[in-house]
Amino acid sequence: MDGPDFTTLGRLVGQARALAQIEKAIASGKLAQSYLFDGPAGVGKHTAAIALCAALNCDGDALGCGRCLSCDKVARDLHPDVIAVYPDGAQIKVEQIRAVTSRLAYAPHEGRTRVIVLDEADRLNPNAGNALLKSLEEPRPHTRFVLVSAAPHRLLPTIRSRCQRVRFAPLEGEVLVGLLRARGVEEAVARDAAALADGSAGRALALVESGEGATEKRRALAARIEQAAAQGSAHAVFAAAAEAGSDREQIAAALALLRASFGARMRREAAQGGTARVLRGRVRAVVRAADALQTNASPQLTLEQLVFELRALPEAPR
Ligand SMILES: [Zn+2]
Repeated sequence: MDGPDFTTLGRLVGQARALAQIEKAIASGKLAQSYLFDGPAGVGKHTAAIALCAALNCDGDALGCGRCLSCDKVARDLHPDVIAVYPDGAQIKVEQIRAVTSRLAYAPHEGRTRVIVLDEADRLNPNAGNALLKSLEEPRPHTRFVLVSAAPHRLLPTIRSRCQRVRFAPLEGEVLVGLLRARGVEEAVARDAAALADGSAGRALALVESGEGATEKRRALAARIEQAAAQGSAHAVFAAAAEAGSDREQIAAALALLRASFGARMRREAAQGGTARVLRGRVRAVVRAADALQTNASPQLTLEQLVFELRALPEAPR
């Protein structure tokens, strides 16, 4: 395998703190039985989880070499001891958890460590969560769990408390530019996308792939939402919601732009010695709306609710 496509722990960028925590655990042989990789979407949590799977089974390097047969299998999703579970539709279901836990009584097939990665673990439904909890409560040698979540508050507290937390931060603008440039994206386009991506590589890539037109549309929608809130007219609210239609992706992107805009203004105000209280409230309202949208709330109702919440806050400095 030619390494560059596979991100080993050593190649993980922009997450120095998370990486240091993982490296220390590996070096001291004190890995936890279960981890919770938490942080915003698109900042490398899943990539890090898979890289950890590779490291724990690598034949060469403690952090994963990216070249040996074992790493190659992990990279190509062919390693029998690396089991990634994704939501089936909106949820991770109990059958999916049982399919995994029924294998835990046996030793790993060919690796040293069986690693179960639960992507979007906050989507475990209650039965699945309880089934998982049983496994987390009975540590087994050679088995580790990595729960990945951008919304860890939605996990059962009993699950959260069984996991060691590793926090992933939003990526710095320069890191995003570098990641996009490495994929052959032009400098100017990469800079634009990085500015709008709110620290998420996933979002930056989506912005690049969706092209300038879509970006303009999202920008317009974000402006429209803010305008409707400022005007305070019910008509403007419904017009903005109708314009957005029910395209969740567009709305989510517009909310991200809005959040980035409020966030930038908030940091500016704070840098000038202000409390940024109003803007902080605005950011929180947008985050709540984005959250609601993710949990399948009606896009129209979500936008209306957001505009009403923004309206209730005093005018924010620009
Ligand atoms: Zn290797």
